Amino acid sequence: MPLVSMRQLLDEAAKGGYGVGAFNVNDMEQIQAIMEAAKETSSPVIIQASRGARQFAQDRYLYHLILAASELYPEIPIAMHQDHGNSFETCKSAIELGFTSVMMDGSLKEDGKTPTTFEENVEVTKRVVDYAHERGITVEGEIGVLGGVEDGHGAGGSGLEHITDPDQAVEFAERTGVDALAIAIGTSHGAYKFTKKPDGSVLKMDVLIAIHKRLPNTHLVMHGSSSVPKDLQDVVNQYGGKLKETWGVPVEEIQLGIRNGVRKINVDTDNRLAITGAIRKVLWESPEKFDPRDYMKPAREAMKKVVAQRMREFGQAGHSGDYKPVSIADIAKGYKDGSLSTRPLVASK
Ligand SMILES: [Zn+2]
Repeated sequence: MPLVSMRQLLDEAAKGGYGVGAFNVNDMEQIQAIMEAAKETSSPVIIQASRGARQFAQDRYLYHLILAASELYPEIPIAMHQDHGNSFETCKSAIELGFTSVMMDGSLKEDGKTPTTFEENVEVTKRVVDYAHERGITVEGEIGVLGGVEDGHGAGGSGLEHITDPDQAVEFAERTGVDALAIAIGTSHGAYKFTKKPDGSVLKMDVLIAIHKRLPNTHLVMHGSSSVPKDLQDVVNQYGGKLKETWGVPVEEIQLGIRNGVRKINVDTDNRLAITGAIRKVLWESPEKFDPRDYMKPAREAMKKVVAQRMREFGQAGHSGDYKPVSIADIAKGYKDGSLSTRPLVASK
C-alpha cells in the first residue's frame, strides 16, 4: 500500500477511540523493528524522522527504506512524518522528498531553542499548512513549549515553564487549521523527564483534559511520552551503563490522554534504551564477538518488543485493516472542497 496521509490515520483513530504511536527512526533496523511489531499486532503506524535523523542517515535513504516497508507490508497503513520541523524550508523539503506529514514546531525559533511569540508561531504554522494542504500533506503544530532537548532540538528546562494555555490552543487551532496539535503539559524530551514518579504537580493531565473539552474534535499529540520503564534502564546499567535513575510518562497517564483526545503519542527514548541495553548485553557477555549482526539482531528484537507493547497499550493493535487508504491527491481535493475540515469544532467554556 502507498504511504498514507497521517490525517486519515488520525481521523480513523478518533473514530475508533484509540491512539497511534509515532516512533522515531534513524536506520534500517529501527524501521524493521516497527514493521515487525505492526505486523504482529495488526497496527497502523506512524514512522517519524527528526531533522537529526534526516542528517544522520541522509533522508533519501530513510525515505526509500520506508517505501521498502510499504512494499513488504502492503496490509499496513504507514504515515511518514517529519518530527519537529524548525522552519517552513525544513517542512517544504520533507514534502518534496515524499513525507506524507510534517510537524511545524513554531513554538521555537528556527534555532530550535528560543521560544517564539504566539503571533510568530501562528504565522509560520499557517504558512506551512497552506503549502502542505494544497499537496494533501498533514500538518502538526505545537502550542506551548516542551521541556528538555533531543537531537539538538528543544528549549531545555523542566517542561513546566511554558504549559499550554487552553484559550491560546483554541485560537491557534482556529487560525492555523492544523490537523493535529502538540501541547505542552509538563513532559520533556530525552531520558530525564521526571526525578520521581510524576504526579499532578509535574504532569498536567488536567490541562490536557481542559483543552480537549474546548477542542473536542482536534487530534492532540503527546510529545516526550516515553515511559522510561525501570526494566529497560536496569538492562543498560547491568551491563556497564551509567544511567541515572529517572521516570517517564506512565502508560496509564497516556491512556487517560487517549480517552481525552490524544491520537498521536511520540516515543523514542524507550526504543533507544531497549536497543542500547541489548547491544551492551551481547558485548558484555561475549566480548569476543565482532560481527555487528550478533548485536544488531537482538537490538532489533528488543525494540520490536517495546513497540508491540506500546501498540497494544495505545489501542492501535487490530486496526490496520479497518480502512482503505485515500490517495494523497484525493486528500488534497478534500482540503480544497472542505470535505476534510480545517476549522476546529470549538466548545464554549
Ligand atoms: Zn517532540
